[in-house]
Amino acid sequence: MTTYIYPGSFDPVTNGHLDIIRRASAMCSKLIVAIGHNRQKKPMFSLKERIALLNAAIENIECNQNIEIASFEGLLATYARKRGATVIVKGLRAMSDFEYEFQMALLNEHIDDSLETIFLITNIKYTYLSSSAVKELAENNASLRGLVPDNVIEELEQKYGRRLSNAADARAANH
Ligand code: ADP
Repeated sequence: MTTYIYPGSFDPVTNGHLDIIRRASAMCSKLIVAIGHNRQKKPMFSLKERIALLNAAIENIECNQNIEIASFEGLLATYARKRGATVIVKGLRAMSDFEYEFQMALLNEHIDDSLETIFLITNIKYTYLSSSAVKELAENNASLRGLVPDNVIEELEQKYGRRLSNAADARAANH
């Protein structure tokens, strides 16, 4: 039984994250999607909200029975060991992700040399997609068409207290 762990902030979850979750979950017996909780950082969505958004979003993934949404504080390597995960999964968008991820992979290996990091190359559709881009688009009322699941659009509308431009259009694109 191989347990993989996919860490991130998921503030909020995007279709890019969901694509990595779907692909990684097909490669292992169990996939833990681990939301990093850092008390120094001020995310837009609380930990509870991010857990709920991810749980609802994975409902739309076929064969999702081996996916667990969890959270951790402190070192990922320590949490991975505690949970029996031996492989860290990361998504790689562009060279800009590589330098940071390369450093993190080596650091995690230094902490625990039984931990492997694997990288899944982003789907071309999501190369430019990040949670920060989603928040910036929502703040400026731009379309989120095809970028995030419906439940995230609804939560963003609640946060901003208004309908987002082309929200209906975006929902249609998700179906
Ligand atoms: P972000 O704010 O950049 O979306 P996260 O910390 O939530 O960042 O990302 C968690 C993981 O998901 C990282 O390994 C990141 O490289 C990967 N990831 C984020 N967005 C995408 C995407 N569009 N395609 C592939 N991987 C992604």
